[in-house]
Amino acid sequence: MNNKHEHMRILVVDDEKDIQDGCERILTRMGYQALKASRGEEALKILEKETVSIVLLDLMMPGIKGMEVLQRVKEIDETILVIVITGYATIETAIDAMKKGAYDFIPKPFTPDQLRIGVERAQEKLQLVWEAEKLEQERKKTLADLDTEQTRIRTIIESLPSGVVVTDPEGHVVLMNPAFLWHLGLDPNRSSGDPIDAYVSDKGFCDLVLELSQGKQSAPDEPPIYEFDIQSEKYLQARGQPVQSEDKECVGAVVVIVDVTSMKVLDQVKSEFVAKVSHELRSPLSTIHEQLALVLKDFVGDEFRNDQHILARAKEKTQGLISLIGDLLDLSRIEAGIVHQEPKHVQLEELLSSIVDFLGSKAKGREQAIILELPKNKFPLLAVDPMVLESIFGNLITNAINYTPKGGEIRITAFLDGENMRVDVKDNGFGIEERHLENIFDRFYRVKNEKTRYITGTGLGLPIVKGLLDSMRGSISVQSTHGQGSTFTILLPVKN
Ligand code: ADP
Repeated sequence: MNNKHEHMRILVVDDEKDIQDGCERILTRMGYQALKASRGEEALKILEKETVSIVLLDLMMPGIKGMEVLQRVKEIDETILVIVITGYATIETAIDAMKKGAYDFIPKPFTPDQLRIGVERAQEKLQLVWEAEKLEQERKKTLADLDTEQTRIRTIIESLPSGVVVTDPEGHVVLMNPAFLWHLGLDPNRSSGDPIDAYVSDKGFCDLVLELSQGKQSAPDEPPIYEFDIQSEKYLQARGQPVQSEDKECVGAVVVIVDVTSMKVLDQVKSEFVAKVSHELRSPLSTIHEQLALVLKDFVGDEFRNDQHILARAKEKTQGLISLIGDLLDLSRIEAGIVHQEPKHVQLEELLSSIVDFLGSKAKGREQAIILELPKNKFPLLAVDPMVLESIFGNLITNAINYTPKGGEIRITAFLDGENMRVDVKDNGFGIEERHLENIFDRFYRVKNEKTRYITGTGLGLPIVKGLLDSMRGSISVQSTHGQGSTFTILLPVKN
């Protein structure tokens, strides 16, 4: 509560001592502090020094007239409430006093109750005024706080090194920071308000922003990542998130952009290095492999049994290295974007049949049944390099054979699934424990347990498959139960 109220003081101005004392008694009993003055001049002096809330003013006093005192009191502090008391009360003097700013009027002689009621009414009025003042101060404070908060947030966004762009549900830019303009090589004074494609020419980026702005991106927990380049010189990575109102309605999107050029360059250098080293190693290794095969052929007879074993192991190891080099070269080609070198029109069913025929003997050697189920209606032709599809399905079917014990079954089912051609490669083999599932598409990741320990591999097959599918806007997913088998599902868009 206001200080003024806590120590509420009432000044009694009357030349009659009895009235002064009587008023003082009543007011003190009511809990107020009473000050007394017997003349107008004295009252005004007190008011210069003390904070007073109410003045009880006798209009008929010696010295300066009551009406003038009233006027001067109002000049000193217009919030002071003046209650006029006079023995010569007439309606006219009352009206006159009210016009000059008096709050109320008590005619003399008055009873203690009349005084109490008059003072209480004035006090209530003051209370209301103070509360209104307090509310007004709070409102001003909240507005000031809001203003500081907004300025603070704006300053933070403006000084972020990452580019930030905020759009409305129609994909119009409502806010962008200097880093966004800088990353995209736009005029630093460029104003917001236009559709996103007026600022960024990359269609994929604009499509993503539009989808986010309209709330069409289905997985808001995983902000989609999109990479694009500015004239092949600068590489930018965008991450976006839809913005939802309190009632979960999409009100736009916020997209952050970071410069990943240095990472890209480093990645490129690394890929080129791996490709070069792999390339250089391949021919000498192949030669060693062939020569080992030749030497092995000459080692016959019991006396060479031990040497034969050593050489066979060496040959097996060189074969493993040759496969690894082959996979590394494939990955380098995928990373460099050199995938579909000789695109042709491919009938997926025919390609699957020839792979199954080719790998059939391997499955037969392991007494496995390999079943191919093709769609009733022919798939539309795919315009791709057939090597890419051979690599994808070759890898998956080889894995199914390798990770399924003798006598198992591998079933390949192809059918049209909405907008996609779908192929399921299903086996009833070892399966994969849940905890490994999210890693098996990572480079060099291999699951090692007593069932898979002796199966050779590079851990690069699935990353290659994924990379190739990405290049065709396809996808791969896996479902597996440890000890029961796995199903790898491939989706290839009909419009590729
Ligand atoms: P690898 O050369 O080891 O086969 P991949 O990248 O093709 O490399 O596969 C990674 C790992 O995923 C494998 O080591 C294996 O543990 C697991 N895996 C792949 N396919 C299957 C499958 N059909 N059944 C069980 N495990 C599989």
